[in-house]
Amino acid sequence: MLVDLIVPCYNESAVLKMFYDEAKRVADGIDNYDFNFIFVNDGSTDGTLDIMKELAEKDSRVKYISFSRNFGKESAMYAGLKNSTGDYTAILDADLQHPPALIPQMLEAMEEGYDCCATNRATRDGDPFLRTFFTRRFYSFINRISEVSMPDGAGDFRMMSRKMTDAVVALSEVQRFSKGIFSWVGFNTKWLSFNDVERAAGETKWSFWGLLKYAIAGITAFSTFPLKVAIYLGSIISASSFIYLIYIVIKTLVHGRDFPGYASIITILLFLGGCIMLCCGIMGEYIAKIYIEVKNRPVYIIAETNVDKPQNDYGR
Ligand code: UDP
Ligand code: MG
Repeated sequence: MLVDLIVPCYNESAVLKMFYDEAKRVADGIDNYDFNFIFVNDGSTDGTLDIMKELAEKDSRVKYISFSRNFGKESAMYAGLKNSTGDYTAILDADLQHPPALIPQMLEAMEEGYDCCATNRATRDGDPFLRTFFTRRFYSFINRISEVSMPDGAGDFRMMSRKMTDAVVALSEVQRFSKGIFSWVGFNTKWLSFNDVERAAGETKWSFWGLLKYAIAGITAFSTFPLKVAIYLGSIISASSFIYLIYIVIKTLVHGRDFPGYASIITILLFLGGCIMLCCGIMGEYIAKIYIEVKNRPVYIIAETNVDKPQNDYGR
């Protein structure tokens, strides 16, 4: 049985060797399974690729796929999965926040007949407080409004069978949100918990805005609820203005005509203007998604690799 360890790397020169040593140590301690390392260089600018090449020279199990620029972790994971041939695939971060030591337990789960062994973080000790706070809000929101469930703390660290890997690769959308995709394709999943640790070296690639954009992408990829907000908002406003209209008619009949108030008119006008813009914005978000998806551009472009017959992404 062959297991592919897929590792997306963006400027990970500080930690990549450490990761390889640890993953190799774990892999060498497991009998009956062969391991391949698929390192995806996501447009690093710090010599990450040189380290990959160095490792590949020493160890023929090391494959690397190097992108022509930074395409994002989602694209890197997709490229790794698409180019994997193993019976099982596992996705791990390069920073050792996803401990390779869990691999034997994951393999046990696969032997029990599961198609997927996913992990969730029992704690978020490795993340700053504010990020933890907003992440939790995001998960409770997205689980309420989207059609697939995404457990809080569930990361991309998981092992999948060939069947499930093929299904994930078959979902070839450009704007990928893997947490949703993994859950959408289904399959029996066993969950393992692990304690979060801080990254071993180097620094996180996520800024607050980056995460916010990612959260909006996730919501709009797996839910059409925001579009319905327009319907609800519109109905509430129409209903209340109708009630207001009746009130005005009665008031005019009883008290006669008085001078209409400038303040109330301007307030209603501004409020409605705001609602209309909000709804247009939400629709715009989805139209932009359709536009990008319709262009059907590749998810990634490979500049260099040592994989035989690389599955590039031009012919999607
Ligand atoms: N990563 C990537 N492309 C990017 C950003 C990140 O391939 O544009 C990789 C990164 O090298 C690491 C993993 O994704 O292996 C997780 O990134 P990071 O540790 O920065 O995220 P965090 O753990 O803070 O969520
Ligand atoms: Mg990390």
